[in-house]
Amino acid sequence: MTIAMTPPDGWTDHAAELGISFEQGEIDQLGRYLALLMDANTRMNLTAIRDETEAWDKHILDALTLVPVLAELREGACVVDIGSGGGIPGLPLAIVMPHLRFTLVDATAKKCRYLEETAESLGLRNVRVINDRAERLGNDRGERSPQGRRDAHREQYDMAVARAVGRMAMLVELTVPLVKVGGLVVLTKGQKADEELAEAKQALYMLHTTHAGTIDTPTGRIVVLEKQRKTPRDYPRGDGEPKRSPLGVRKA
Ligand code: SAH
Repeated sequence: MTIAMTPPDGWTDHAAELGISFEQGEIDQLGRYLALLMDANTRMNLTAIRDETEAWDKHILDALTLVPVLAELREGACVVDIGSGGGIPGLPLAIVMPHLRFTLVDATAKKCRYLEETAESLGLRNVRVINDRAERLGNDRGERSPQGRRDAHREQYDMAVARAVGRMAMLVELTVPLVKVGGLVVLTKGQKADEELAEAKQALYMLHTTHAGTIDTPTGRIVVLEKQRKTPRDYPRGDGEPKRSPLGVRKA
């Protein structure tokens, strides 16, 4: 049994002002998650934030600012969190949105083992963890079977989310191929959101994706992108290529 951390005074009211309300037991679950994150952080590098009060805002609240956007999804919809690391934003969202299914993806095996153990000890049945690179999943069209293709990842998700994985021009190549046509890519960004969006303009065009809007939150800015048409077969490019030379960005 993990000891749960308790939120600082006024935290729950603050969340309520943002339209985030909690069911019985969810605050306790979030507190247990934070305790597990902080404990694992002594063994691997998951977050620079070590102060509890700060973690409730910069990790939990920051993840939950996405709730109003995810609230649009139907029951059973699939959300992929790319570069989940310590589990932000995927795990707090999975706790408060048990009717949605979350796939947490990270390239680092050790982080994935921690994510698995954490989801397991929190009893989250709506979470699966995949240790792979987003570039590979984005090209995974599944196995042929008599019933059609199985276990595909390309163009399978209703929504992709990501925080702190890299600048937008490269992140769109990692996320857009995974979502269905009409699906959304929702990125948690900071004050540089507009700058990154301008830099990603050509990449968005190449990936047939448009900017649907930017939402200001107390912890940053959320950029919402909408996939308009199928991703051209050339994308995503191979491992590390989106980061090495982001689409449409001139080398300095
Ligand atoms: N989203 C978390 C972690 C950010 S750190 C948070 O906000 O705290 C970035 C994470 O992305 C790292 O864990 C790294 O292993 C992972 N990552 C980077 N590039 C990736 C790729 N191409 N595919 C999958 N994971 C990737």
